[in-house]
Amino acid sequence: MRVVRVHAFGGPEVLTLDTVEAPQCLPGALTIRVGAAGVNPVDTYIRQGAYARLPELPYIPGWDGAGIVEEVGEGVGRFTPGDRVYFSGTNAGRSTGAYAEIAICRELQVHLLPESLSFAQGAAIGVPYATAHRALFHRGNAREGEMVLIHGASGAVGMAALQLARAEGLTVIGTAGTEAGLSLLQAQGVTHAVLHGTEDSARTIWDRTGGRGVDLVIEMLANVNLDTDLTLLANGGRVVVVGSRGRVEIDPRQTMMKESAILGMALWNATEEECSEIHQTIAPMLREGELWPVVGPEFPLAEAAHAHERVMASGAHGKVVLRMD
Ligand code: NAP
Repeated sequence: MRVVRVHAFGGPEVLTLDTVEAPQCLPGALTIRVGAAGVNPVDTYIRQGAYARLPELPYIPGWDGAGIVEEVGEGVGRFTPGDRVYFSGTNAGRSTGAYAEIAICRELQVHLLPESLSFAQGAAIGVPYATAHRALFHRGNAREGEMVLIHGASGAVGMAALQLARAEGLTVIGTAGTEAGLSLLQAQGVTHAVLHGTEDSARTIWDRTGGRGVDLVIEMLANVNLDTDLTLLANGGRVVVVGSRGRVEIDPRQTMMKESAILGMALWNATEEECSEIHQTIAPMLREGELWPVVGPEFPLAEAAHAHERVMASGAHGKVVLRMD
């Protein structure tokens, strides 16, 4: 089968298209003929060798994908060959990933894909929706009626957070870096869409809260925004740091005055059982169209290096995916 592998950590050029033996199905596992694989920013950090947990070399990157069950191992009860599924995490999460024509996954990592969703949309569910769910509800304790600022709502996690927050009855201020991004947020039903990265961004967000502040911030770029986020909170507000790409100076006094909190979150701290529970929770919402994964740029498997460059650039507006065809 064709796979993309990394033989040495480095830039996007280390992603090579190789031909390898297809994985043998194992007890408790499934093999899946992959239709599309999701490209997450974390795939690039790992490829670069700049991540806390690194796989043994060579490895096949990718956590998320969707396709058709090919074989089920002994003890697998929820699936049969031919089922349309999406998955998040692949067997052992080490050397065998989603950038492959066939992936091997443990049963808990696999979920039924509604007929209404394409494989590309299925590849956009795993990490983004589980991260958004954990950030909003597990760490951020988001409650119906609250106002949330999703700072970076036009990306994969942000769009998932916007849809989940709306479904829970929150008022959502979402930010994007381009006019096209703002239009996308409006089409997704955001309450207020605001351009990030301008001199007026913070003032505009504050005005949209009616001068009260937001109850919760879901932050995709904390190294740029955290200090300002603290000024945008209402009393007792929380900031959940989902993404950060460097250091930042903050004024801790801001947290005292409003008794606010800064909370970190990392999906890797969630157990496989916790992730599986999140996917069970969102399953009816995916079936009923309440959640609708938005796909951005698509690349063939052989162009994984371009996909890695794309996912680190701004303005993608939806999930970057690799197609197996
Ligand atoms: P993505 O699809 O590339 O989205 C990135 C988002 O950041 C876009 O909405 C982008 O908006 C926005 N952005 C750019 N400049 C910004 C600014 N100045 N202020 C606010 N937002 C800005 O990536 P993703 O998959 O959604 O992931 C988002 C971040 O979360 C990444 O850093 C990723 O590594 C991290 N992450 C963390 C976890 C975890 O467990 N903690 C899990 C998944 C992802 P425009 O493109 O419109 O400018």
